[in-house]
This record gives sequence, structure tokens and C-alpha cells, in this order.
Amino acid sequence: MTKTVEALLVMKFGGTSVGSPERIRMAADLIAKSAAARPVVVVLSAMSKVTDLLLDTLKSAEEGQQGAVEENLAALRSRHIEACDELLPAGAREAAYEGIDAIIAGFERVARGMLMLGERPPRSVDDAVTAGEKLSVLLCTALLRSRGVAAEAIHGTELIVTDEQFGDASPLLEATEERSRSRLFPLLESGHVAVVTGFNGATHNGVPTTLGRGGSDFSASILAAVLDAEELWIWTDVDGILSADPRVVSGTRILPEVTYNEAAELAYNGAKVLHPRTLAPLIEKQIPVWIKNSFRPQEPGTRIVSRIKDGHGVRAITSLAKVALISIEAASTSMSGAQLMARALTAAARAHVEVLLLTRSSFRQNFCMLVRSEDIDAVMESLRTELGLELAHGYVHPIDVDHSVGLLAAVGEGMKGTPGLAGKVFTALSEQKVNIIAIAQGSSELTIAIVVKQEALDDAVRALHQACRLGDERRTEALV
Ligand code: ADP
Ligand code: ASP
Ligand code: MG
Repeated sequence: MTKTVEALLVMKFGGTSVGSPERIRMAADLIAKSAAARPVVVVLSAMSKVTDLLLDTLKSAEEGQQGAVEENLAALRSRHIEACDELLPAGAREAAYEGIDAIIAGFERVARGMLMLGERPPRSVDDAVTAGEKLSVLLCTALLRSRGVAAEAIHGTELIVTDEQFGDASPLLEATEERSRSRLFPLLESGHVAVVTGFNGATHNGVPTTLGRGGSDFSASILAAVLDAEELWIWTDVDGILSADPRVVSGTRILPEVTYNEAAELAYNGAKVLHPRTLAPLIEKQIPVWIKNSFRPQEPGTRIVSRIKDGHGVRAITSLAKVALISIEAASTSMSGAQLMARALTAAARAHVEVLLLTRSSFRQNFCMLVRSEDIDAVMESLRTELGLELAHGYVHPIDVDHSVGLLAAVGEGMKGTPGLAGKVFTALSEQKVNIIAIAQGSSELTIAIVVKQEALDDAVRALHQACRLGDERRTEALV
């Protein structure tokens, strides 16, 4: 299919940007303004904390806590009914109430099933949890219509085709392109704004899936790519990508521009502002992305592009606290360290677990793999299956797991070929008495990743941010 819609803008609003009636009103203002000038596809998250509430409800249901389930259902309903009352004119409310009740009833059916069976199958979780996005899309679409903007609510299940990895599905881009174009282009051509639920898709057979927590960013970038959008704007609650997490470092600086590679490394290494997989679909088509603050839309934000001129030194520091370090060591010289490592990586891949960092000591035949804490059970089960015989016969030492570590990363395209940079990073950490447990630097020299004790993680982020003078507006030449 070659047909396209010119100058298409995809806009994504995160949870805080649709977190209250006031915020939804602001989102609708921003949508209406853009839609007056060009075709617009909107991707929405659930209202802030709603996905947590839904997941918590399903967990309570599995555990048989009926009281908690009822309480959460009531909270879910009242939050959206109240928003509806505040946002919509009286004449539009009845239809919205019905829509809200139908979505909540769908969620409730699954929750009650779990309560009865004492089980929480991942496929049913995915089916139920997108109620949050359906509700925010319903409210926003109704508000736009009440203001005379032609808007149509669309479910991600109609557009994004994925594999069957429930809870963390991956898009199948060809099928997604075909479905998205045939569903959305006629709508856009007839002057409608499409308001799409983020976070969810469906398998080829139409079974609902989700794209991982924070996945609405990913939904938006998938749609921008398959629709050949001119731009993607991600509206959030900070002025753009900052030189570090503002919750950890005071005096961070907004980065006016970053490259796709830098943004991807930052996201992958913990910068919550973007879902780790957001940038991948956009790179080939070089679709520019803006990260903007829906609370302060007048601010320019951060532009993400292929290349930037002023690219020297470290650009940002990021960290990930919820990780675990797995150490594996051969106990016998008859065991090849390289083979052991290959099998461990295969085991991780089989469990669909991403290895964030890998380091190896060739002398002692041991190596470490860093994974997200949420993945540790799955990867350990897979490792025990893969290496079961060797562990039972003592050819491999018992696998050690350290949960008390954190990952720290310094990111910047301009680090490449900057001599002495690693030394400066390590000096800054040693001055803070931060003990380094493991280090990795890819050959792209885009990121130095360091594993430290979790209790020292925030201090380490602050020390590096300061040593690299990332908060200093007047920084003319990069220190590192
Ligand atoms: P949304 O709900 O809009 O998707 P998120 O909460 O997922 O928003 O992401 C935005 C948050 O990411 C910010 O409020 C900020 O606390 C956090 N964050 C972490 N690291 C960074 C960074 N380097 N730059 C900007 N924000 C960051
Ligand atoms: N609502 C989903 C979540 O909280 C997706 C998102 O916000 O991007 O994970
Ligand atoms: Mg997010």
C-alpha cells in the first residue's frame, strides 16, 4: 500500500497529561489546535495510576480478596464518572455514562472470573487491563466532539498486530501497517481526528495483548512509523529529556536535541520518560520526535533526530534501581567458559528476558549478566533447566544472584574517541567512595554502563552529573 496522508502528526499524551478533567481539557485544546491545521492521530494512556489500580484489582481477585476488588471497582467508576460530569455538557453525559459502564463491566467480568478461579492468566490480564486506555479515550473523544471537533475512538487492537508475548508483546510491522492504513486513512481523509488507545494491540487472531508498562509511547511510535507520519509529539509532564532524572538530581538541564541513539540508550538504561522500545520503529524513516510538556506547552521541548552538530561529551546520566546481577562460574576446567556463556544467553532469550549488561573474566571462567528484577524468576527457571545437569554434577558453581545492585549509565554520542573519559567517570565515582561492581562499554562508545551497590546509586548519579557539569548552562566545552 503506497498511499499516504500528507503532513500527518501523531500526538501521544501520557497518564499525567490526561490525569484529571483539567488535564484532559488541556489535551483537547492541544489536539484541536493541531487538528485545525493538519491530520492528527492521537494516542492516549490511561488516566494516571489507573493501570496500577487495574493490575492491583486483578491481583487482589486472584488472591480472593473480594473486598479490595469491590473497593477498586468503585474507585475506578467514580474517578471516570466524576471526570465525565466535569468535562461534558449535560446532553452528552448519558451516552458517556453508558460507555463507561460497559468498559468497566468488561473489566469486572474478567476480575470476577479470577476471583472465582483463583488464577490470573496473562492473556486475561492483557484483555482486562486496557480498560484504562478505553476509558480515557472515551472521555477525550466525547469532549472533542462536544466542542465540534470530528473525532473517532479507535482501539489499539484494531490497528497494532503483535506476537503472543502477553504483557510485553512485540509488533508485527507489516500486518500493522496494512491494518492501520486501511482503518485510519479514510477517517483522516474525511477530516476526523483518530483517538487511539495506547498500550494495546492484538494477535493475528484478535486476542488482545499489551506492549509492556509505559507502552503507549511505543504504540505512538509504531503508528507514526507505519503511517509515515511527518512528526511524533510525545506530551508528558517534564519540559523534555533532561540531563538526569529530576527526582534524583536537582539542577538538571533540558537537552534541546538528542539523537535517536542517545534517546534509545537513555530509555533502555532507565530514563522513564520514554518506553525503551519507542525509538526503534522511527529510526529507519527518520521521523522526528518532540518530547513536550503538556503542563507548559509554550516550552520548546526536546527534539530527537538522527544527527546533531553539538555532540561532544556525556549528555545525560541515567540509572535503573530494580535490577539483579546473576553470576555464573564454571567449576571445572573441562567446561568452556564461552560455551557456558552462550548457553546462559540462550536460556535468557528463551525466557524472553533482556540481558542489560554482560561482563566476563576469562581467567576465572566466570561471567555476570544483569537483568531487570521483574525478570529474575523467569530467567533463573530457564537457567536451571538449561544448566540442570552441570549444576547437579558440580561442573558449574551454584548460580549467585545479587539483588542489592543498581545500574548507572553515562550516555552521549560525543563520548566516542574522547580520551580519558572512562578514567574521569571512575575518578568521580571513587571520590564519592562508590564501589564499582561491573562495567560495560559497547563498541559504539555511546554508553558507559556501571553496576554499583543500589544504596549508592543516587549518589553516584549525582556525582557523575556534577563531574560532567551537565547542569551548567554555560558549559562550552565538555569536561568529559
Ligand atoms: P508519561 O505518563 O507522560 O508517559 P512518565 O512518568 O512515564 O510520563 O515519564 C515522565 C517522567 O520520567 C518524568 O516525570 C521524570 O520524572 C522521569 N524521568 C526520568 N529520567 C528522565 C530524564 N532523563 N528526562 C526526563 N524525565 C525523566
Ligand atoms: N497505561 C499504561 C501503563 O501505565 C501504558 C502507559 O501509560 O504508557 O503502563
Ligand atoms: Mg510513560
